[in-house]
Amino acid sequence: MEHRIEVPDEFVIPSERFDNPSFIQERVDAAPSAVQGCLKTALRYLYETQGPTNLESARRKVAWDFLEEREKILARWLSTRTNGSERKNYGKGALHAARNARYRCADCGFPDMRCLQLDHVEGRKDPVSTFRCLCANCHQLKSRKKDWVNRTVVEAVETNSEGEDVG
Ligand SMILES: [Zn+2]
Repeated sequence: MEHRIEVPDEFVIPSERFDNPSFIQERVDAAPSAVQGCLKTALRYLYETQGPTNLESARRKVAWDFLEEREKILARWLSTRTNGSERKNYGKGALHAARNARYRCADCGFPDMRCLQLDHVEGRKDPVSTFRCLCANCHQLKSRKKDWVNRTVVEAVETNSEGEDVG
């Protein structure tokens, strides 16, 4: 039985956009001059490994109409975590993990951005959290390991889990 999932292109970021200054420059040049600065910040935030680690809402708003729908999904997801209500739980480490994974699952490579989650590798209580970008399936498999691994490791897994009730 096939379990392959079709992923529409509109929810996948082409890998060749990363660290590609001419891609960003073409997009910026095509926008009105009043928008160019903010659009450049937004695109560098999304696509440059060493790009900005902040996307302030004022700049995001100016760039907004010149972003693709899939970029808007990413910008909402990420800027909530670097500049918005979730910044204390995530921050730039989460952004770096997502960028470095090229907005794909770091375990299985699944590329649909709508399914991506940022896993706290050492759990939410870790003060210097490191993150992995995982798809919902791989994240769930990690979080629910305690349901099937043998009892001696249950405690260790619970300590490292996000503390979410995923049962
Ligand atoms: Zn995965």
